[in-house]
Amino acid sequence: MGNKLEFDLYQKPTNVNRYLNFKSNHHIRSKLAVIDSLVLRCFLLSNEKCHQRINDIIVNLVKNDYPKDLVMKRIKYLSNKRLQKDKIEKVEDFEHTVCLPYIPIISAKIGAVFKKFNTRVSFSRLRQDLYSKLYNHKSKIPEDLKNGVYRIDCTGCSKCYIGETKRYLKVRKKEHELAVKNKKTEISPIAEHCINENHSIDWVNAKVITKCETDFERKFNEAIEIRKVGERNLMNRNLGENIPYVWHKYFKKV
Ligand SMILES: [Zn+2]
Repeated sequence: MGNKLEFDLYQKPTNVNRYLNFKSNHHIRSKLAVIDSLVLRCFLLSNEKCHQRINDIIVNLVKNDYPKDLVMKRIKYLSNKRLQKDKIEKVEDFEHTVCLPYIPIISAKIGAVFKKFNTRVSFSRLRQDLYSKLYNHKSKIPEDLKNGVYRIDCTGCSKCYIGETKRYLKVRKKEHELAVKNKKTEISPIAEHCINENHSIDWVNAKVITKCETDFERKFNEAIEIRKVGERNLMNRNLGENIPYVWHKYFKKV
């Protein structure tokens, strides 16, 4: 307008005005923060005539189950705070911060106790909540279609084979299976073990134990896994990359 810039609220075309629902299992602080961010954005980033958009914000918050009374009270509080912005605001200066899972009522009480000891509490969602158990949008990669460091167990004794491959496990596993079938002991230590001990292999449960991106990562992790299992329980003919002995005791604890 003229030689002045005017700002208005922008919403992406995909915006559907869905916010953290008021009935969801979150601390009230998180819900107030939703109101604050919408209201303050309207107050601070737009010019006066755009303030009428506050009505849309109220309608949308109510659609997300926010009580209208609470929204109105919060808007009043934020407006007063803006009018008093010249006053120096007291900033709480905590010495420590702890993170706790959010459980209604209990978490707020624990938070109040921590506050007395100058400790801020931030709340996180419980990891094993119903939502994450019922809804997992990531499809699992089948074990056969992974690569990296793998483990194949013997069914006749406690020995296993630790190997690494940058191809799919199912391809490498097939090579071992063919070596066993054709008694090619020079190709596969697994074939050597089966023939020498007359044992069979648990092919079904063969799995990638560490996924790796690079050759170095694969070789290094293979050497670690070999040392974690220990020489006595291995079909492997060698122990892979050399790792200084001082580290070995730590691998057993991992
Ligand atoms: Zn065996």
